[in-house]
Amino acid sequence: MFKIEDSVKNIIQSIPDHVILVGAAKTRSLDEVKIAVNAGLNILGYNYLQEAMAIKKSIGNHVEWHMIGHLQKNKVKKAVEIFDMIETIDSFKLAKLVDKYCNILDKIMPVLLEINIAREDQKAGILPENVIEVAKKISVLPNIQIKGLMTMGPFTQNAEDLRPYFRDTKILFDTIAHENIPNIEMKFLSMGMSNSYEVAIDEGANMIRLGTILFGPRKCSI
Ligand SMILES: *Cc1c(COP(=O)(O)O)cnc(C)c1O
Repeated sequence: MFKIEDSVKNIIQSIPDHVILVGAAKTRSLDEVKIAVNAGLNILGYNYLQEAMAIKKSIGNHVEWHMIGHLQKNKVKKAVEIFDMIETIDSFKLAKLVDKYCNILDKIMPVLLEINIAREDQKAGILPENVIEVAKKISVLPNIQIKGLMTMGPFTQNAEDLRPYFRDTKILFDTIAHENIPNIEMKFLSMGMSNSYEVAIDEGANMIRLGTILFGPRKCSI
């Protein structure tokens, strides 16, 4: 029997202290999420606003809520109310909307820029060569604060295939940091999932997003 409590505790114990664990909780029941939170998981990542809202009703604010899926523009108004960080800012347009609705709430939203590091056609994310330009434009928005980068990398079973992409994302992260752009802090580098987090940490990730390894295999894939 897969025990969520044990896997959460084991992962928290095994990762280095400087690495922040985000539980990718899509498709998990409220009971499963509660077990994980009680075992020490204190950041929940969601791909869909609706699902996050439903679970947040019961769990509330004693954990942090991260948006880790593609954020649709018509969901931004609600998303900025419930999330503490948006890891998936992939355009200036989206950032502007987040800024606008945060302004109304008098809230400053920490965000990560999502990088399409492998330049995949079908993937969301800012292309590496455009990141500095986009980051500079976003940095002047008063109600948004860029805190780092996030990447998914290509889909593969073999984590070693991702190493060069993680490495390139870290180089980009350091490059932006050295630009010293006002209002931009390169603090969090979010990369690595259940099958790749060790390689990601190796290559400089300090935030990892884990689902399967914490909660067990998903019954349906979304
Ligand atoms: C589902 C998901 C994860 C975690 O995936 P696992 O392979 O289950 O660990 C991480 N990041 C994002 C954006 C996801 O959608």
